[in-house]
Amino acid sequence: MTETIFPCPCDERVLLETVGYYGIGGEARWVVHPRSVAELALALDRCRQLRLPVIIAGKGSNMLFSDEPFPGAVIVLDAMNRMFRVSGELFFCEAGVENTDAAIAIQRAGRSGGEWLYRLPGTIGATVRMNGRCYGREISGVTRSVVTVGLDGAVRWRSAEEVFLGYKETSLMQSPEIVAGAMLAFADEDDPDAIEARMREYGDDRDLKHQFDFPSCGSTFKNSYAAGKPSGQIFDALGFRGRREGGAQVSDHHANFIFNTGGAKAADVLKLCAAMRTDAREKAGVALELELQCAGLFETALLDACGIASTPEPSRPGYGWAGLLRFPDATDAAFPRTLLQGPVLDYFCRDAAFPAGITVEVEQLASLAEARSAPEQPFLRWTTLNESGAAFALRPEAPAGAFVDQLWESSVSELFIADGSGTGRYLEFEVTPQAHWLALRLDAPRQRTVGHETPSEELWRGQATPFASETGFGMELSYSLLEPIIHDDTLRLQCAISLGDERYGLFPWWHGEGAPDFHQPARYCVVRVG
Ligand SMILES: Cc1cc2nc3c(=O)[nH]c(=O)nc-3n(C[C@H](O)[C@H](O)[C@H](O)COP(=O)(O)OP(=O)(O)OC[C@H]3O[C@@H](n4cnc5c(N)ncnc54)[C@H](O)[C@@H]3O)c2cc1C
Repeated sequence: MTETIFPCPCDERVLLETVGYYGIGGEARWVVHPRSVAELALALDRCRQLRLPVIIAGKGSNMLFSDEPFPGAVIVLDAMNRMFRVSGELFFCEAGVENTDAAIAIQRAGRSGGEWLYRLPGTIGATVRMNGRCYGREISGVTRSVVTVGLDGAVRWRSAEEVFLGYKETSLMQSPEIVAGAMLAFADEDDPDAIEARMREYGDDRDLKHQFDFPSCGSTFKNSYAAGKPSGQIFDALGFRGRREGGAQVSDHHANFIFNTGGAKAADVLKLCAAMRTDAREKAGVALELELQCAGLFETALLDACGIASTPEPSRPGYGWAGLLRFPDATDAAFPRTLLQGPVLDYFCRDAAFPAGITVEVEQLASLAEARSAPEQPFLRWTTLNESGAAFALRPEAPAGAFVDQLWESSVSELFIADGSGTGRYLEFEVTPQAHWLALRLDAPRQRTVGHETPSEELWRGQATPFASETGFGMELSYSLLEPIIHDDTLRLQCAISLGDERYGLFPWWHGEGAPDFHQPARYCVVRVG
């Protein structure tokens, strides 16, 4: 693996048949493996700069990559695979945690309710995106919230109600947001051996149904409640069991599974899908929707026959793109617009709870065009909410609203804003619930800019304005302050909390190692402020 044009491990010219579970797919120009939210945001920004088309993948167990070469980047989230227990019932999983690994960790913690995830192929991120379900359980039933990364790098914390829309349907299927992680809740305790026994029953049941005889994508079509019976039974009645097309074959045991029995092409799979969908409609009177997600360049006629929307490829008449993330040409965002928003988690992502209920938000208050015409107006608003009210206990001995040197000896919320071009220059802001504040300007980690060696309120007058109210505390920052470090319409952002008693939190999180150190501008999230 190399770290060349991408800020994280990547491989050039990779056969997608070696990437996806199905063992099908042509060559991709790049396969990229971000290890953190920040690297994911940076990788997306690089794809935008290079005008590369993008496909997002977990394990590819519900995806059909096309046979055609893919001239863009397949971003695989397998290296974002950390999981940690936030409190008794809450488990935070990064998107790339495998369902089976999540089930095992939950079982070992003596919590039931995650058994069904055992040997369900794929990752938590995709399972959330697809609202995966089996054995009477659904991921929506155990998800509290979902962290997403937008194409502009914005990191948002979505409630389960915002995400899950019903049977195998989520709002994420309609918007180009990437699941970066999910907070899962398992309230019920049980004996780990009893939980493990149930997990094994589910796994054995999958073996009994011959699900793993050959690579597949699981159920090819969704069920239709209107049909009154599962899609597999419909295809069974239509005589599809064992039907073959090239190396693709409908399972002899489950007529909604299409196996790659060896050397199958994407076109073989889609031809079977087209025949199944047509027969279901014409002979059984049932309109079925493909569950399998197509990604890449396909013959438009085949996609049409399978009910898949596509975008024509001008250089290849009769071919179209499906399953790509598309960068909008222009942002028509309404303001204020959220750039970062979510809860602060323990710096080390370890099995230790950071005081729950602290959330941070950074909003862009005006468009760049508006900001340029009124540069002294607030451009960013940074807010910290402390629902529990208890966390920020260590207060400085200074009147509320004072500029305080060495404020980090108290309990503070911190915002770091680094130069979008990655030069390493950054600004650091600290604020308390009583609006005590501190601001620093640095050229490199812990190296203060000339003229800023001694912190002084004077240097920030009219540009950084702290506030504190019942609903939150933070600062407003003017465009004129940020303009020199906005690069290619991007900034790098990171929020942190230091409670003054050696407890530290982050949003978005990274995998802290060694002594807690927020002064790592290369790790901040690249966010578009266009
Ligand atoms: C043998 C077998 C049995 C199966 N049984 C079941 C079952 O019982 N129930 C069930 O629901 N499913 C089942 N499936 C399907 C599959 O397990 C799930 O859909 C799983 O959630 C896919 O995870 P993945 O990481 O492989 O996703 P992928 O196939 O990599 O991706 C699926 C889709 O989600 C998108 N995506 C991937 N990661 C993200 C992300 N982080 N953010 C946003 N979008 C993303 C991809 O672009 C793609 O459109 C089965 C599959 C197989 C092979």
